Amino acid sequence: MVDLLRRPEGLLLRDVEVDGTRTDVLVSGGSVRRLGTRLAGAPGVSEVDGRGGALLPGLNDHHLHLLATAAGRTSVACGPPAVRDVGQLRLALSGGTDWIRGTGYHESVAGPLDRALLDQLAPQRPVRVQHRSGALWGLNSPALDALGITDAPDGLLWRGDERLRDRERSTWPDLAGLGRDLARTGVLGVTDATPDLAPAALDRLVQADLPQRVLLLGAPDDWEPGSASLSRGPRKVLLHDEADLDVPHLVAVVRAAHAVGRPVAMHTVTQASCVAVLTALQEAGALEGDRIEHAGVVPPELLGQLVDLGVRVVTQPALAAAHGDDHLRDADPADHDALWRYASLLRAGVPTAPSTDAPYGPGDVWDVLRAARDRHTPSGRVAGSAERVPVATALAGLLSPLEDPGGPPRQVRPGVPADLVLLELPLAASLRDPCRDLVRLVLAAR
Ligand SMILES: [Zn+2]
Repeated sequence: MVDLLRRPEGLLLRDVEVDGTRTDVLVSGGSVRRLGTRLAGAPGVSEVDGRGGALLPGLNDHHLHLLATAAGRTSVACGPPAVRDVGQLRLALSGGTDWIRGTGYHESVAGPLDRALLDQLAPQRPVRVQHRSGALWGLNSPALDALGITDAPDGLLWRGDERLRDRERSTWPDLAGLGRDLARTGVLGVTDATPDLAPAALDRLVQADLPQRVLLLGAPDDWEPGSASLSRGPRKVLLHDEADLDVPHLVAVVRAAHAVGRPVAMHTVTQASCVAVLTALQEAGALEGDRIEHAGVVPPELLGQLVDLGVRVVTQPALAAAHGDDHLRDADPADHDALWRYASLLRAGVPTAPSTDAPYGPGDVWDVLRAARDRHTPSGRVAGSAERVPVATALAGLLSPLEDPGGPPRQVRPGVPADLVLLELPLAASLRDPCRDLVRLVLAAR
């Protein structure tokens, strides 16, 4: 078990590797105080022998969904790879009579998700199952009855998270537990990319007392966090359907955010949304801090536009790898090079940082580092070999500031917050086989 120390007071880390040099690091009052060889100890200052292991600033996951991830930890997998056919799905939804919250459903399991399917598989207990896209919930009849929902005869709720949450007060997920577990993987900063967070969700995030700094893309413009750990980020703009791709509409959305000094975080997965979003940004004018979430398809002719606009991209290499077989099968071969770019964005000069998109993306940030290097699909193919980046490059992205994804990596220096991750091994050895087991000790400034 990784040790997690919060608000460290008086700690001397001996013989740690910082930027390739072995040194001692003194931490107190929540900050890094001094670096140097053979720093003097003092009464009340405890010491840790770093044994030459790398000391890094805390890692930043630049795009995830805290509440959904916390909820997902007590959910049942309803899609590949755990569940691949209707028999396995029936099994996943069986046993007991309590509510079941399923996630990760995909049509390849048992066709379209709806009330009839879920009633057939689980007629007795309330069941709600989320589509892999995160956009759609399917509920069975007992679930609709239990929640008093009468306006969804097919049992489908699009973007229904807030609605479901409002009706399920008792099932607020364990955010504090998630925060601790993320910290133990070295993640001490997260950008929550959930759009339009409701007041109850914001309260929940404030009260969770997470060890992470949290940047919220879904906080309203007038929200006052009341906690130094949380801040409002660029405004998340989700493109729900065709109507949202209307360029004049998008221009108005971008201008409204920019008018209050807020950059935008535009969700684009398809080529159509990439075209619409870049056209709208061109017309509205870009603001420093504007970002593209996912950039699932960027056709070559739009790369230059991305550079000219000066927007950054937050990508998900592990998602690209996990869904790579589907992408390679479903996408036009001529478009394969445009899928989930990373290396080509960096080469073009677009600041780009990786993230998990948990719970929709698999694994932790260490999986992201490996996926950035390998992009191995479940069937063992490589999804976009030209888009692979070295582990050190992806790590630099995780070390870039929450407010500047893809910008210069943070460093361990006197005066910086004591958000620190001590690894078992020096950096060069750690980069060869990145995995969460390398994390030995985590200090969180809050
Ligand atoms: Zn997301």
